[in-house]
Amino acid sequence: MNSPVGIYLSVPFCKAKCSFCNFASDAFGTARMDAYVDRLCREIAGSRETAERRGAMLPREADSVYFGGGTPSLLSADQFRRIFASLRGAFDLADDAEMTLECAPGQLAEETLEELLRQGVNRVSLGVQSFVDREAQAVGRLHTRAMCESEITRLQRAGVREVGLDLIAGLPHQTEESWKISLEAALATGVTHVSVYMLEVDEESRLGREVIAGGSRYGAASVPSEDEAVAWYEAGCDLLNVGGLLQYEISNFAREGHRSRHNIKYWRRLPYIGFGLDAHSMLPQGGDAVRFQNVDDLDTYMSDDATGPLAVLPQGKAPEPERIDREAAFEESLFLGLRLVEGVSLDALREQFGEAMVASVMPSVAEVSEAGLLAMEGERIRLTARGRMASNEVFSRLLIPTAV
Ligand code: SF4
Repeated sequence: MNSPVGIYLSVPFCKAKCSFCNFASDAFGTARMDAYVDRLCREIAGSRETAERRGAMLPREADSVYFGGGTPSLLSADQFRRIFASLRGAFDLADDAEMTLECAPGQLAEETLEELLRQGVNRVSLGVQSFVDREAQAVGRLHTRAMCESEITRLQRAGVREVGLDLIAGLPHQTEESWKISLEAALATGVTHVSVYMLEVDEESRLGREVIAGGSRYGAASVPSEDEAVAWYEAGCDLLNVGGLLQYEISNFAREGHRSRHNIKYWRRLPYIGFGLDAHSMLPQGGDAVRFQNVDDLDTYMSDDATGPLAVLPQGKAPEPERIDREAAFEESLFLGLRLVEGVSLDALREQFGEAMVASVMPSVAEVSEAGLLAMEGERIRLTARGRMASNEVFSRLLIPTAV
């Protein structure tokens, strides 16, 4: 892992909480945001000390920076200036670094946008979720289709090199026709990147809890069935591919040459470090790697008593760092690599992990291929379209049977 590091910054603030959202984010006042930025800057400044404590190697060069959230576009120009000063103090940002900002339509001040462009931000990912106003409003989004379209035009005209957007299949009130409207609207904007997610139904969101327990306050009764959402998702993949946004990962589509460098690091197991609430990191450690994550409770994260001024992790409150040994690294390479449409090179796996490790999963690979979920092409394996919809099942069937 002698690659430059990718940097993720978590900004867990939103204007309002969307009903489907299961992230560690919420609506807070501006004073909290300012204190959070200070905390983030201290964490960045202490990152080398943190890596050392983990016995991990933290590359000095960084070639991607990703502000995720939450709604990081709510930060002010001055707050971004402080964060970038900290980043430039702790890392050498590559001249061609990819720098991405997640943004909610209508929630990026002009002064902030100008500062971000000065700092080198070249990608904006807009949380559109749906171009159909009724669907967006039902889940608490604060924008309309018209606002999304004018935001995209504004960003393109301002010189943001890459403008992308997110969509969700399975929202309340969504139908086959309305889903198609969102996809066609996305294509018509000329964005270079689209991420498509399925609505996640779990106990972590208001809508998810209502779908599980029943009720009508958040529109659970209007949520389409999982089978419908899967069918629309598959149709959406075809429509985007035909429109020139080519699928390169289970949830991600890009025009030629516009894939997300930062997100590809996750799937290729390249080093990344996360700062802020609930941020995750993976760094080289000897011949292996170590994964660690920050706490997901804002008060704990903010508490210097718990952390010390330069510490990243409130000791004893975040999950223990996880050392990724050779066997775990092999499984990760296989499963994360299979998320990419190009799949995984068995020769590359053999070179990195040895023949015995690869041979140990080949019977399962053959079995899953026969079931039509995996395709073997020469020395590469990749998920089929059906396999992409059942990726968790595929991964569990490919687990190494016993230690090699
Ligand atoms: S979906 Fe995005 S904007 Fe909505 S609450 Fe979650 S993080 Fe905030």
